[in-house]
Formats: sequence, C-alpha cells, structure tokens
Amino acid sequence: MKQSPDALLRSIDAPAMLAQVEAWSAINTGTGNLDGLAEYVAMLADEFVALPGEVELVEPAPVTAIAADGSEFEKPHGRHLVLRVRPGANRRVLLTGHMDTVFPKDHSFQGQKWLDDTTLNGPGVADMKGGIAVMLHALKALEASGEAAGLGYDVMLNSDEETGSLASSDLIAQLAGGKVAALTYEPAALPDGTLAHERGGTGNYSITITGKSAHAGRNPQDGRNAIVAASDLAVRLAAMAHTDMSVNPAKIEGGAANNVVPDHAVLRFNIRPKSAQAMESFDSDLNGVLAEIERAHGVSVHRHGGVTRPPKKVDEPAQRLFDLVKECGAQLGQTIGWQSTGGVCDGNNIAACGVPVVDTMGVRGGAIHSPDEYLIVPSLAERAALSALVLQRLAAGDTL
Ligand SMILES: [Zn+2]
Repeated sequence: MKQSPDALLRSIDAPAMLAQVEAWSAINTGTGNLDGLAEYVAMLADEFVALPGEVELVEPAPVTAIAADGSEFEKPHGRHLVLRVRPGANRRVLLTGHMDTVFPKDHSFQGQKWLDDTTLNGPGVADMKGGIAVMLHALKALEASGEAAGLGYDVMLNSDEETGSLASSDLIAQLAGGKVAALTYEPAALPDGTLAHERGGTGNYSITITGKSAHAGRNPQDGRNAIVAASDLAVRLAAMAHTDMSVNPAKIEGGAANNVVPDHAVLRFNIRPKSAQAMESFDSDLNGVLAEIERAHGVSVHRHGGVTRPPKKVDEPAQRLFDLVKECGAQLGQTIGWQSTGGVCDGNNIAACGVPVVDTMGVRGGAIHSPDEYLIVPSLAERAALSALVLQRLAAGDTL
C-alpha cells in the first residue's frame, strides 16, 4: 500500500537529524580550513554509505588567484563527495549541497546556542549543514518507501561553494549532464519556507596593470603610471553598469613610494548580470575597454577571472519542478511560495546546464553568513518529507 504523506513525515528520524546537525556544526568548515573539511567529509561519507550506492571523494580542480603584487598563485581546496545510486536508471536526478561555511577557523562564531525551544543558533546550521541532513534523510525515506526503484540519483557535496565553486564547477556540470531535474539544499529564501526562483549571476575579476617606474621629480614623463591607469579603468567600469547589470569596482592595490611613478596595480571588481545577454556583452566590451586603457596609458594589462555563476532564469520545465514542489508541500500541509533573489549559488550553475533546478530545498532558518545564523529545528523533518515526496513523484514518472 502506498504510504500517506503523514506516514512519510512520521517515518523521518527528526532527533537523529538534529544530533547530526549539532555534531556537524561543531566542526569548523570555513572554505579555507582543509583539516576541518577533511574531518567533515569523512563523517559524511560514513553517513551516505547507508544509501545503496558508491561514495567517492573527488579531488578539487586547480584554482588560481591573483595576489596583491599581481602574481598568480594556486589556492588549495578540500575534496568533494560524490555518491552514485542506480546510475543505470533511465530517470536520474542530481542533489547538491556544500560542506563549507563562510566562517574561517579564527572567526569568533564557532559555538551553538538555543535561542528558544525550537531555534538553534550556530555556524552552518542553516547554510547548509541542516540542508545536508534534509537531503540525507529525504533519500533514506525515499529508499525505505519502496518507491525508489525507477529513479537513479547522484549526490554532490562540494567544499568550495561559498567562494564560488571554482574547484567544483566542472564536476557539477559533468554530473548535471543527463539529469531530468536537480535539487539543491540551500536554506529557504525566507524563514517561512519560500523558495528562491530566478537568480542574478555574478562574476569576479582581477585586472593586473603593469606600467613603468620613473623618478617622480626628475623624469616623470618616462614613467607609465599604473595607479592612474587603474583609476581610469575603475571609472570606465562603473560607467558600464546598466539596469540589467551592476558593476562594482571594489579595490585597487599596488602603487609605490611618493617619489616614484608606480609601475604596478591590481584592480578587483564584481559584476551582477541579470541576463545571459548582459553577461556576454559585458565580457566582450571589457576586452575593448582594456585595450583602450593600454593605448591611453602605455601600460600592459592582464585579465583574470570572469563570470562564475551565470544568471538563472526559470524556464517551463523548471517552473513545472517548482509547481511539483508546491503540490507536494500542499499534500504535507506546507504552503510553499517563491520569489526571485539577487543571491547566487550552485543552482545558477546547474540551471546553466539546462537542467530544471529548485535550489532552496534545505531548512527554514535565517541570518545566514552572520553570527546570528539560526535553524528552525522542526523544519528538518518537515523539509525532508517534502523532498522525499518530490523524489517519489519523480521516481513515479512525473515529467517536467
Ligand atoms: Zn549556502
């Protein structure tokens, strides 16, 4: 006999979920804390082996960044966890989450505190250690329900989402291939459970400018001032913003002593395109502007970075996935709405692969990325039941 939504909800082991979140939050997993991430990924591997698939730890892709002196250096990252269940199934979905948090090892926010009987404050409790518990227990409930047979799935937990998923974006794209849908376990957009719908994109750039130094008094005409060129570039970049895209020149580093024409500067900036067209035209316009800066100031320019998360639009199949989540919520007595947001996450990258995705399937909570981050504890079981029901429907052949 088919399980009722109520029975499904009752089958979720809520105390076990809370105990996991408390244990996981106690481990610092700032994106740069490789020891903490290694400890956490080992704990998760032990939990996810309960599902009928193979757990694999995947090495991070190499990532470079630009130092203040303009040199390029490699940034180390933690390993990612991948679980593949029934890879031969015709209908397969992708579930993603991230293990890292925005709180480095030396941050003051490390402990947990109960704010009231049902609200827990702690690093990562909502974003997204709670979400990983939701995913794990939804999958356990799906397997226990006996309705999983038609559905294959891959789980991907990365170590670097909070810094833009540079070490995992290829892995995400590879795993998204051939999937009918994807679910990502970021916390709900609002504490009432509202989902994030369309999202803008984001890109980060570092522009290194190399001029020529000279004596500021004796022969300044022989110098090529990198700080002046960087400043000119900052003004031109700001002028490239329009209604569909913000541009934020954020930082100029470099320069020299007061009596030296500076030969070196690094300009860093962020863009937030709302459409693919805004993203693409910016990228080609930027090359033109950089060439003008080279000509106007007699400097050479090196460009690093780009768009890491394309804007996420909601097409028809993606809207049907939202509708399915809403319908499953209604069966459980949960009212599920959605709204667009300027925030970004791995859902942007999955949507860019043409796979319908709902990326806020995680817990209800709030104040994420701050020491006030909190989890509404009853939402653990509530959202696990929601996901389990959605997965049952996808297993039963609901098409998007
Ligand atoms: Zn997150």
